[in-house]
This record gives sequence, structure tokens and C-alpha cells, in this order.
Amino acid sequence: MRWTNTFIPTMKESPAEAEIVSHKLLLRAGLVRKLTGGLYTFLPAGLRALKKVEQIVREEMDRAGALEVLMPALQPPDIWEKSGRLESAQDVLFHVKDRSKKDWVLGPTHEEVITTLVAGELNSYKQLPVNFYQIQTKFRDEIRPRFGLMRAKEFIMKDAYSFDIEDESSNASYKRMYDAYGRIFARCGLRAFPVEADTGVMGGAHSHEFMVPAETGENEVVYSESGDYAANIEKATSQGPLKITPQESCSAAEKFETPNVKTIDDLTTRFDVLPEQQIKTLVYIADGKFVLLLLRGDDLLEEAKLGSFLKCALFRAATDIEIYELLGAYPGSLGAVDINKDIRILADNVLKGASGMVTGANDDGFHLKNVDIKRDIHIDDWCDLRKVKTGELCLKTGEPLKIQRAIEVGHVFKLGTKYSEALGAKVLDERGKNVPCIMGCYGIGVTRTLQAVIEQCFDENGINWPTSVAPYQVCVTALDVDEDSEVMKLASRIYDELGAKGVDVILDDRPVRPGIKFKDSELIGFPLRIGIGKRSLENGNVELKPKSDEMILCSPNETVDKALEWLEANRV
Ligand code: ATP
Ligand code: MG
Repeated sequence: MRWTNTFIPTMKESPAEAEIVSHKLLLRAGLVRKLTGGLYTFLPAGLRALKKVEQIVREEMDRAGALEVLMPALQPPDIWEKSGRLESAQDVLFHVKDRSKKDWVLGPTHEEVITTLVAGELNSYKQLPVNFYQIQTKFRDEIRPRFGLMRAKEFIMKDAYSFDIEDESSNASYKRMYDAYGRIFARCGLRAFPVEADTGVMGGAHSHEFMVPAETGENEVVYSESGDYAANIEKATSQGPLKITPQESCSAAEKFETPNVKTIDDLTTRFDVLPEQQIKTLVYIADGKFVLLLLRGDDLLEEAKLGSFLKCALFRAATDIEIYELLGAYPGSLGAVDINKDIRILADNVLKGASGMVTGANDDGFHLKNVDIKRDIHIDDWCDLRKVKTGELCLKTGEPLKIQRAIEVGHVFKLGTKYSEALGAKVLDERGKNVPCIMGCYGIGVTRTLQAVIEQCFDENGINWPTSVAPYQVCVTALDVDEDSEVMKLASRIYDELGAKGVDVILDDRPVRPGIKFKDSELIGFPLRIGIGKRSLENGNVELKPKSDEMILCSPNETVDKALEWLEANRV
């Protein structure tokens, strides 16, 4: 491609809307443009990189034996009704109406569609295992679309769905996808690692997310130094904090005045009660019912663990008014001692055996001391609700745990039979019995992956594309663009020869200053630039400048071979 025949609108400054480096670079390098929040147009160079990521994904899915299909993005709501997700996924579902005012949804994912297909098409175990995938646009009504392609309302996902008759083969299907994901991200030049993930409401057997370490990531990953343990913080466990020794005998709970105490800290600073001696009481509403959550004062609630324990997607913190109506006090003075109402109480495991504790008295400005959790509070369920903290010891390896922010680029999930039962994807097994297929689902955010590559590969001048996904692998920069000049003749020849060898090459034939050409090529981040100028040519030299390496000088005749050599050596 000649630069003057394409459209790469680079920008000197980053637009104010862009907060993170990859978003800034996507815009500045002329790869995408924003239509409005969460909606982006891919420009020619950006689309080339996107297609390359898609192609890597496609090749590895095909290699793993998955079959490519293409499903409708527009879906009838009744299949969502059947799976129960019309309600549980309501936060992300886009609804549209047709001319007869009938309701439709835009697919945020395709379990319902693929399972309906399988229900109608497959009837025997002999047709299994099977895995269908597609690369397609998804729609999600995200509360906070941000960071460009990272969290968009419309984005491209690769989604695959496996159907098996037995658990063992379903695990093998899962493993094939898990391994394929490792290869996909490596081929995209991304450092991504798998972590154990929350199975949440989907209630599946197991799940891993593929994470790209990045400070701007929206996830937190808990891991041990040896790499033997890594989990999303939503799911991570540890040996816990140090337990405080229970008191031998704890006198009766006693109310004391705590005017204007609103927080755990207030109670520590003004009444000398350590956070670990306090019971924090939170009020949530899950499936329309109140539930009280008790945590140690120095711990934070991990909401995903609550959702997972309650098997409930729709829950929220109660408002101050709701809390007051329920308990007769506002947050800051809440507790669960002697509650005479029928409210479910969940307590975090760390509180087991705790005594001599302080908690709110459900009377504004009052707390209770000498609380013995077993004696004074009726706990319905003990569970893991707390967020793991840095430095706690790993349950598996005993090592101190670390926490790192990361971007989720992919997700593999063993689903079980939830969807196949709900939507009738059953087949006859060997004994002639009709059984639901065991399913797995596997997603990769294709557009998010593309941006994650940039988030991980850049320098102060621009993007450092891996050769596998760069919009062009080589940029031939002609510093004299007069078609009859020696410089341009050589540049065109090298460009043609590289193109004939299957290299993705662009010829910068713009009549602009060399400085602009160099800056743009650094910004867009072509892995290799071949600079041809009058002066160096007179000295018999062509400049080969790898984006992230030292310049190599070579003679005009060697240039193509040297460039091919470099590309081969830097193949990702
Ligand atoms: P997140 O937790 O980031 O909202 P998710 O867990 O809901 O994502 P999945 O349903 O697992 O997402 O979707 C599969 C993949 O699709 C994700 O791993 C991610 O890479 C990508 N993805 C999900 N939501 C978005 C979005 N709004 N914009 C871009 N990519 C997305
Ligand atoms: Mg996910």
C-alpha cells in the first residue's frame, strides 16, 4: 500500500477523552475514531491489525477442532426467558423493538442461540463432541464504557461453545480451548496468564480467565511468586489474616455510647478498639430479600463471593433509608446481636470463634462490647466473603500472596448442563437415554486483545507492534518522493519485492518533511522501517531501523534480504 492511497490520520496530541496509554495511541496513530462513548470506527490501519488478531484466533480455533459458524446478533427474547437470563442479565441486555412493537435483544453472548441450534440439530452421542465458534459483534449496555475498545458497548468477541456427552470428554474440550488460548495470546505477542476465576451465578464447575498484567486493568489478580497459584481476587482465598485469640470467658455484651462514630476508623481512633476487634455489619438486598453480612472490621467485602454463595446475580447494597427502616439505625451503628426479625445472617469464616468483639447496637451513637459471636449472634451461614490481602499466605503453596492489576482478555468456562437442560439440548446416550449435553463456553475479547497488545507494547514515541499483528510489518520511507528520483525508484523496487515475498509493507510516498515521516512511523509503530534518502544512498547505504532496536546499514541490493532476515528473526 502506498501511504498516499490510504488513510492514516495521525495526531500530535492525544485527545482529552483518552485516559490510558493504549487508548491515546489508538487514536493518535490513526487506528480508530470514536463515534460516541463506547462506539468506535476502525480506520484502515486499525482494521488491518484487528483482522490479524482475528486470523490468529481463527487459525488456533480451527487447529483445536472447533467449527466456525456465524449466529445472528439480533435474538428473540424467549430463549433468554427460557435460560432465566432475561432477568439476570438485564443490566447488559440491549432491547430493540420491531415495527410491530415486538421486543428483541441484541446478543451480549450466544449460549442461548447455540444451545437452541444444537437442540434442533443433534440427537445422538455419536455426533459429539462438537465445538462451534464464531467471531462476531457483541452488544452490552455497559454502565461505564471506557478506555476505548477495552470496555465498549459494541465489540468483537470470539465465542466458542463445546458440547459433550461425558464429564471426562467435556474436561478434554475445556483443556483444548485452554491450550489454544495460550497459543493465541503468545502469537499476538501478549504476555497473558491464566487465573482461576469465579464461576458465579453460571454455577459451572470451573473457569479460568486469561489476564494481561497492566496497572490500568479493571481486575485484580492474586498470585504466588512461584506461579503455582493465581486467581482473580473475586475468587482468591488465603490462609487468612492472623486470628485474634478468643477470650477465655467473655462477660455479657454491654452497650456503650459512641456519639458520631460512623466508621471502623472512628471507633479505633476515638475508642481505642482495633479494627480486628470489630464486627462490621453490611446490609444487602438479594433476590428482593434483606441479608446481613458480618465481616471483621479490617476486612473488605468481595461482592463476587457473595453472589457466588447466594447463587444470585441481582443483589445490591441496601440504601441508608432501607437500612434505617429495617434496623432502626444508620450505617455506623449497625449490628446483628439479638435481631428479632427474620433476616438471613451470613458471617465471614474469619469471625469463627471471635469473642470480646465490638459491634453496632442498632441504635445511632451506640455500640456493644464483649460480643461473643457464637453466644450473641444467630448466624445462618458461615462463608468466605472477604477480599484477600497482599502478604497473606497462600493456601496451596504457603507463599506470601501478591496482588496485581490486570486486563481480562479471555475466559474459559465449564458450564455443565444449565443451558442444555433449559433449552433442550439433549441427545441419546449409548444406552438410549436422553441426556443433556455438558457444555463449555469460551470467550476472547478480540478488540480488547488488540488494545491490550498496545497497552503492553509501547515506548515514549508510540506503539511497538509485534510483527504478527502490526498493521504493516515494514514501512519503506522514501525521503525524496519525486517518482523519477533514484531514491523513489529504489524505494518502489524494495517495496515491490517485499510485497512479492508476502511481507505487509507500506511505502511512505507522502510529500512531507522527513521528520514527520519518522515521527509517524514511530508512532504507528511499524516493526521495521527502511529509510532511503539521497545522502545515505550516495554513500551506498540504506537504513534499516527496527522500531525497538539499533539501526542497521546495508547496501541497496542487500536490503530486501536483510529485511526478510530481520522479520524471520523477530517472528512472534
Ligand atoms: P468484564 O468482566 O470485563 O466485564 P466479562 O467477564 O463480562 O468481562 P465475558 O462474558 O467473559 O466478559 O466475555 C468474554 C470476553 O469478552 C472477555 O474476556 C473480554 O475480553 C471481552 N469483553 C467483555 N466485555 C467487553 C466489553 N464491554 N468491551 C470489550 N470487550 C469485552
Ligand atoms: Mg469474563
